[in-house]
Amino acid sequence: MKIVIMTLFPEMIEDAVRHSIMGRAIENGLIQIEAVDFRAFSGNKHNQVDDYPYGGGAGMLIMAKPVVDCYRHIAKEMKSPRVMYMTPAGKVWNQEMAIEYSKEEEVVILCGHYEGIDQRAIEAIVTDEVSIGDFILTGGELAAMVVADSIIRLLPNVLGKEESFEKESFSEGLLEHDHYTRPQNFEGREVPEVLLSGNHKNIEMYRRENSLLNTLKKRPDLLKTVELAEKDKKILKKYNYF
Ligand code: SAM
Repeated sequence: MKIVIMTLFPEMIEDAVRHSIMGRAIENGLIQIEAVDFRAFSGNKHNQVDDYPYGGGAGMLIMAKPVVDCYRHIAKEMKSPRVMYMTPAGKVWNQEMAIEYSKEEEVVILCGHYEGIDQRAIEAIVTDEVSIGDFILTGGELAAMVVADSIIRLLPNVLGKEESFEKESFSEGLLEHDHYTRPQNFEGREVPEVLLSGNHKNIEMYRRENSLLNTLKKRPDLLKTVELAEKDKKILKKYNYF
């Protein structure tokens, strides 16, 4: 997969992708990430990409031309990528969307700054508007990294055997079960006994119950959309969900 991030701050992206799973995926040739500075497409000697908004109001706006020219330049090397614009007005990113995008061959992510980007650039090149939550960031770079990270860890061979995403929160519509490692007793808090039993069936049952209980306590909204098996319903009944 190739991800191209259009930004005024390419160093922010280049620094962030060097580490951990993303860095390893790049090194192993499993993913290509390129940060492209659309200031290079300003077309003026001061490299200016922003201007005052028509109609007045506070703040500056990124002009349409550098963004569209930059996109047309990178698109020459691509087939027909999906182009995401990071914006608080977009659809709120979730695991289902990450799974959907992880099947794409090429993705372009456009990062705004200042008050955002001239609407005509968005109309000309963007296929999807994406938000990472109901709050305002200074620029789209951190949002782009959140989105890219969540896609990349789903790609084949990116996670090692020990890091499987299949049982992670949201992969089955529920939050994950709790985790424990050594020591067995930490400041008087014991690891649940069943996890030490070696009985895999009982461990699986305990983890499913724990996962359902965590979801019920922390994100009960998820239970409304997930498909529950009869035995899940029985467990939830025990905790007065039904
Ligand atoms: N004036 C815009 C508004 O009220 O919707 C906010 C602009 S914000 C200061 C600058 C840039 O940060 C946006 O163009 C967008 O790319 C990015 N951004 C801010 N919040 C975001 C969020 N929650 N999700 C994704 N991108 C965001």
